[in-house]
Amino acid sequence: MRGAVGLGQRWKATTVRVVGETPVSAVGPLRIGLVYPELLGTCGDRGNGEVLAWRARRRNLPAEVVEVPASAPVPGGLDAYLLGGGEDAAQATVAGLLRSPAGDGLRQAVAEDRVVLAVCGAFQLLGRGYTDASGRRTDGLGLLDLDTRSALPRLVGEVVLRTREGELLTGFENHGGRTWLGPGVEPLGRVLRGHGNNHSDGAEGVRRGALVGTYLHGPVLARNPFLADLLLRAMLVRRGVGRPVLEPLAEDRSRALHDARLEASLPPRPRRPSLGPR
Ligand code: GLN
Repeated sequence: MRGAVGLGQRWKATTVRVVGETPVSAVGPLRIGLVYPELLGTCGDRGNGEVLAWRARRRNLPAEVVEVPASAPVPGGLDAYLLGGGEDAAQATVAGLLRSPAGDGLRQAVAEDRVVLAVCGAFQLLGRGYTDASGRRTDGLGLLDLDTRSALPRLVGEVVLRTREGELLTGFENHGGRTWLGPGVEPLGRVLRGHGNNHSDGAEGVRRGALVGTYLHGPVLARNPFLADLLLRAMLVRRGVGRPVLEPLAEDRSRALHDARLEASLPPRPRRPSLGPR
């Protein structure tokens, strides 16, 4: 596994206010796993690892991105597991690897409610399986009650969704698969623009504890500081840092990107009629 992925720019560190037992200084380096980036990363999803590490370092939290190549077993005990999207063939290869003992570290991470972010093809593999456009079935990991079947046309374009906290998330989608969540399975949010999981139920992604699945590329964490900090907080809580409060970042480039993409994706707000001369 390769070591830390450095980010050259030096930024003024922003503090983390912690309400809880363990002082932040006692938190050793956060280890962010990037699983099989050579197979799952067609849409630049590997950037999610660098963004998460950058947002941790901006809060004076040491963090490193640990790349897990397809030739290696997925290690247990990482603070986060990030998996990206991939074409059908790569997805089938990944499914075989992760269903084997090589995938035990990921299964253990899900069982321990560690942070898992699975994008597009990887999101699909968390469920029972994926049936591609030719009807070929790839069994998934069966970790979530969801299933995916490919159909035409591909669902491509900008997506905006609203999370249960009322936050807007932005990204772009590019998938043939239509994913259906089982009863009681919570989506990441409700679609305001675009397609999301399928063409009809208005759900996007999946959310269970510290696990998030989504169709959003972008990379999704680069476009959505809320989601990135949600995962970062979950990593700290798991390290026993009580209830960490992450101060907003000054000069947050993700915030600027987020706002610009929302501006481009949502219809302009209707201007309130002027009340006439005062
Ligand atoms: N192969 C899957 C589909 O087309 C996922 C694609 C992706 O990961 N971008 O639905």
